[in-house]
Amino acid sequence: MAVQTVATTSNSTVDLGPAAALSCRECGHRVPLGPVFACEECFGPLEIAYDFSAYDTEELRARIEAGPANIWRYAPLLPVPADVAEKPNINPGWTKLVKADNLAGELGVTGGLYIKDDSGNPTHSFKDRVVAQALEAARAFGFTTLSCSSTGNLAGAVGAAAARAGFRSCVFIPHDLEQGKVVMAAVYGGELVGIQGNYDDVNRFCSELIGDPAGEGWGFVNVNLRPYYAEGSKTLAYEICEQLGWRLPDQIVVPIASGSQLTKIDKGLQELIKLGLVEDRPYKIFGAQAEGCSPVSAAFKAGHDVVRPQKPNTIAKSLAIGNPADGPYVLDIARRTGGAVEDVTDPEVVDAIKLLARTEGIFAETAGGVTVGVTRKLIENGVLDPALTTVVLNTGDGLKTLDAVAGTGLTATIRPNLESFREAGLA
Ligand SMILES: *Cc1c(COP(=O)(O)O)cnc(C)c1O
Ligand SMILES: [Zn+2]
Repeated sequence: MAVQTVATTSNSTVDLGPAAALSCRECGHRVPLGPVFACEECFGPLEIAYDFSAYDTEELRARIEAGPANIWRYAPLLPVPADVAEKPNINPGWTKLVKADNLAGELGVTGGLYIKDDSGNPTHSFKDRVVAQALEAARAFGFTTLSCSSTGNLAGAVGAAAARAGFRSCVFIPHDLEQGKVVMAAVYGGELVGIQGNYDDVNRFCSELIGDPAGEGWGFVNVNLRPYYAEGSKTLAYEICEQLGWRLPDQIVVPIASGSQLTKIDKGLQELIKLGLVEDRPYKIFGAQAEGCSPVSAAFKAGHDVVRPQKPNTIAKSLAIGNPADGPYVLDIARRTGGAVEDVTDPEVVDAIKLLARTEGIFAETAGGVTVGVTRKLIENGVLDPALTTVVLNTGDGLKTLDAVAGTGLTATIRPNLESFREAGLA
């Protein structure tokens, strides 16, 4: 099988920049770069190990600042070749960090409140960051089809990236997703398959397909390319710090689906500290879930180290992963940094979407409702300190989850004359 041949190829034939090897997060066992995701010794997850030893801090900072206004400004810190910016890619990132003073006023935050608004990416969610990385790995390993299991946003990001780069795409989603997500995934012309089951069923199916001849030559961005894919989330940490003037925020509120994004934001912050690009100060990472799919939050509150799977039932479908692969690592990070994991109900998610829209003019998808809602709850409970600099992630666009705010609409319907306008009480 082609996949295995590539996996044993030595580093020298695969140019992924500063990426040196894959290393097991559990036992530290190292293997050459390849499309593998589980340790052959202990089945633990593999992640990218880098060689950053040649970098001089100020040279690196200058190189980043002179780079393009997208994630490739951080190419020296990512598993991509140095000339990545010249290849066909959807070039996500460098999204706005919005100083949210109106929202801060409503929530009583005095230390500075920011929304990192990733709805501004090419397919309107943070998933473009991770897919852009996986695409480069797929190119390096000679794959010709891009695939994934998706809760919706990933399907669109894969479809767009594949279209632009000339790959075939075939992606798998639960059959009952929001129409906005389905259309957004289908419009790029790839194949889109609905699976009768939830996300965890879709994911299991994809694992089977990888082991089958039918999946030969396929790069599943979040399965066999997962170590590369995951690194894309580090760029959120890099951008937040650079946009704050090369400074760590005190508190970050991050949504949790599989937990990958949260763990890599922590990895990105740690790298910036080690490279001397930011001052080494304490920061806290908070995880946010919807109550209808809150396995990590439940484990955090119960003081457990293991995450017990749940059957998701929430309007926050992009976060509806009942068996999150990175759950235990999220618990470690929340506890190590002094953060927390919290959840909010679906009505609280809707309230928070409207609150953010009405105060800051940002229309978030349900995942953004989850982070803003959890931020409010953590402040009310005295867990999040309103006197500290806080960054809240909005990872997707409200236009993709219009059903969540159904019922929001016309103030009045009037005849086209002033009398009718006055009658409606609008004058
Ligand atoms: C996928 C996704 C996330 C987070 O995903 P992880 O699996 O935890 O990395 C957050 N927000 C949105 C909108 C997403 O689509
Ligand atoms: Zn291992």
